[in-house]
Amino acid sequence: MDWKYERNVLLAGLFGACLLGFLLGYTAWFGLVFMLLYTLFQFHRLQQLYDWAQKADIDNVPFELGLFGQLAQHLFRIKKQRLTRRDGAKAQRERFKKLVGVYPDGVVILSANNEIQWVNERALGLLGLQKTDRGKIIDQLLRHPRLNKVLQLGAETAVVVESPALEANWAIEKIEVRALPYGDDARLLLVRDVTRLERASQVRKDFISNASHELRTPLTVMKGYVEMLLASTSLADKPVSHSLQKVDQQVLKMQTMIDELLQLSKLDEGGVENSKAVIKVHDLFEQLEDEFQALAKAKSLVLAFDLSEKLELTGNKNSLLTVLRNLIANALHYTETNGEVRVSCTLNDRAEAVLAVKDTGRGISARHLARLTERFYRVPENNVMNKAGTGLGLAIVKHELERHEGELQIKSSVGEGSRFQCVLPASRVARKN
Ligand code: ADP
Repeated sequence: MDWKYERNVLLAGLFGACLLGFLLGYTAWFGLVFMLLYTLFQFHRLQQLYDWAQKADIDNVPFELGLFGQLAQHLFRIKKQRLTRRDGAKAQRERFKKLVGVYPDGVVILSANNEIQWVNERALGLLGLQKTDRGKIIDQLLRHPRLNKVLQLGAETAVVVESPALEANWAIEKIEVRALPYGDDARLLLVRDVTRLERASQVRKDFISNASHELRTPLTVMKGYVEMLLASTSLADKPVSHSLQKVDQQVLKMQTMIDELLQLSKLDEGGVENSKAVIKVHDLFEQLEDEFQALAKAKSLVLAFDLSEKLELTGNKNSLLTVLRNLIANALHYTETNGEVRVSCTLNDRAEAVLAVKDTGRGISARHLARLTERFYRVPENNVMNKAGTGLGLAIVKHELERHEGELQIKSSVGEGSRFQCVLPASRVARKN
């Protein structure tokens, strides 16, 4: 309809101009001049429309009639929609900023190349950053090797590091950092002050370590005396020799516990195992077979070592022996007569080494699995008759594996047996086959 309006205006105008020209004897000239003026007028309207479209405000639509008027109305609707959307997004952004502003922990939004897109006040304090650091690359500002590793690898599991703001604020010693995927390829860095928690944990560790050291000597002395008394007590004196044997067993248990606690204290202090010594898994298995075959036979258990791939690993041989010793000893211990314990080493599809100890024993109920590696944690129903263990073995296994950048995975179900597997990173596989 509006192009018709435009056409009618043009034709009426042209007719009027030609008529006037005819009356004055210049029909063609009047027609030509009219067309020229009409074209210039349309150019002017187009320019007006363009200028208005460029403006941020949507009011003052330049004209409403004709083809350009229709175009202006259409542009008006598009502009209005865009503004409404922009206002909505802005309000949402403001709400998000307010929410994260009062959040007690630090929050940093990072782009795919680790550029700081947004950061709350708390994160500035915890990371020692300035407001003006927005837009800068975070790894270049922090220059903290472990923290930068978290940033590069994107560790979703929390990592505790020394606070980069330590010199500016001595109250913040340790922070916990977690990098979560956010949006398409951005990341959300969550930072928490864990100084007090870490201090409490350190006090606990120091106490256990000191107490263990102090108890070691008296226990050795006691053990010596008990052994001496046992040797000098005649077997005929059954009640006394029986009591002394009981004391001897308990002292031995305490000594084992003290040794394991000291071992854990050492592991707490040590960092990643840097030894590049090459360990042949075959040799490990041979040694363990020698150590445990007799015990397995005594319990009428099958103990088999499967090594389909001849793997070599880098790390500390004694640590890996400790890990496997603990797992095999447990498997033999918690498997009933005629059962089977299989030890294997394979590569998984990510080229990681998997050392597994599988048994057909009594298994562990799912509710205990997450707590098994806690210090002193023992499954009550599995240990009703067994008072010998300390509940520290799996804690040592976990720590030793962490030192090798590996992890312990446990699968088990009651009555069907358990599978404890140690996954070591591909970087620790020195050779296969
Ligand atoms: P413990 O000295 O008691 O064996 P660990 O830390 O080695 O201490 O193990 C913790 C607990 O996990 C054990 O007390 C036991 O209840 C359970 N456990 C460990 N290995 C097995 C297994 N192979 N089968 C069943 N239960 C097990």
